[in-house]
Parts: sequence; C-alpha cells; structure tokens
Amino acid sequence: MSDNSLRLVWVYPDLLSTYGDQGNALVVERRAQQRRLQVERYDVRSDQAVPTSGDIYLIGGGEDRPQRLAAERLRRDGGLQRAVANGAIVFSVCAGYQILGHEFVNDLGEREPGLGLLDVVSTRGEGERCVGDVLGDIDPSLGLPELTGFENHQGITQLGPTARAFARTRIGKGNGTGDGTEGAFNDTVFGTYMHGPVLARNPQIADLLIKLALDVNALPPVNDHWYEELRGERIAAATTQPA
Ligand code: GLN
Repeated sequence: MSDNSLRLVWVYPDLLSTYGDQGNALVVERRAQQRRLQVERYDVRSDQAVPTSGDIYLIGGGEDRPQRLAAERLRRDGGLQRAVANGAIVFSVCAGYQILGHEFVNDLGEREPGLGLLDVVSTRGEGERCVGDVLGDIDPSLGLPELTGFENHQGITQLGPTARAFARTRIGKGNGTGDGTEGAFNDTVFGTYMHGPVLARNPQIADLLIKLALDVNALPPVNDHWYEELRGERIAAATTQPA
C-alpha cells in the first residue's frame, strides 16, 4: 500500500478462473475505488512472475489438471510466498485454497505439495461431490454477516492447529470433514470453498481484505442495495434447496 493506491493481484486467471472468479477481482477493485483508492490491478497469467509487492492477492477455483499446473508453477515461482512474507493479504477459493495448504491430491491421484501458506491439508473425499448453495456463520472475530456461497468440490480439507475455520456451515458441506467447518484463515491468508463469486455475494469480505491491506478498522459506507438483493436471493435458494 502506498499513499492512496492499492495493488490488487489476480493470480493465474488462465488456470484458476472456472467459476466466475473475475467477479471477485471486480468487486475488490470497485469497492476500493468507491473509497477513493486508486487501484492498480494486475492479472498475472501462469507464464508470468507473480509480483511480490501487491497488497491483496486473489486466487480462484479450477478443475483438477489446471490446479496441478498452477501449484507447480506457483511453487517454482515463489512470488506468492514472498508476498505473504512481506505482509500481503491473500484470498483464495476452492482449488486456490487447496493449493495454499501443505498438500492436496491432484488429478493423477498423487499427493501434490502446496505452498504451505495455510495450515491445512486436502485429500480427495470418498463420498459424493460437495455441490450446492451454502450458508454459514463466519468466525465472530472477523465481524462479518452470514456467509452465502456455492460449493462444488471433491476435495476435503483438514485444519491444522494454526489455521482457524473461516466459518461454520448451517447449510452445505464446507471443508467436507463433517465437523461443520468451512474454509480457513490466519492473520493474512484466507481460504474458502465458496464460489458465487463469493465476494459479490459477501461484499463485506472484500471490505475486510481492503481494511487489512490499509491497516484501518473501518471504511466509508457504500450503497449495498444490489449486493443485498443478490444475498437475499441466494440465501432463499439455500434454504429451499433439496437436502
Ligand atoms: N479440484 C478441486 C476439488 O474438486 C477444486 C475444485 C474447485 O475449484 N471447484 O476439490
């Protein structure tokens, strides 16, 4: 963060953008601009180096093979780990979330090392794929309203001792471990299974990322009318979907 500008990095849109993840970048960008911040947005393809001086990094969901390629390239590149060491904020979704953990099971059925930025380990679930609308309560320490999202994953994720559950599900599978947890976070790195895109459905999460990047406790309010319409629609869908 320098002066009034925010550097937003969207990691690997060519590999990890299967579920409207661009929406997350647009929401962070727009909500920062509404607070009169200048946003420099970098969409970093997987054949480019990940810049290390960003303020907020977004990494999205993807199918199994692109997920393996992304993990290989991110490990080789090392930029995201250096950015986190510099204090960057990271928000990751589904395949991106699994990549940020210690390891996940790849498309070849092998254990693939992740980046170790979150204390989680993902394996392949034996049961049915987790698909559907989700409702949950976000960790109270984060001061956010109820979580709405859509999940679509086979992987299940176990939290280690230094990761906290991002939310507790009321509807949906979340981490898929049967303990009601959904996603994980530490001081600066967040992971969730929620698509949607999740920041369009939960704009207060985008605001949280901006606040953490700016190191402020509050942002000027903005008009959330259309977000609230979308939230209402999706929360209704979650509560009426077949179990
Ligand atoms: N391939 C991973 C899984 O199925 C991630 C899928 C996703 O990003 N939606 O668990």
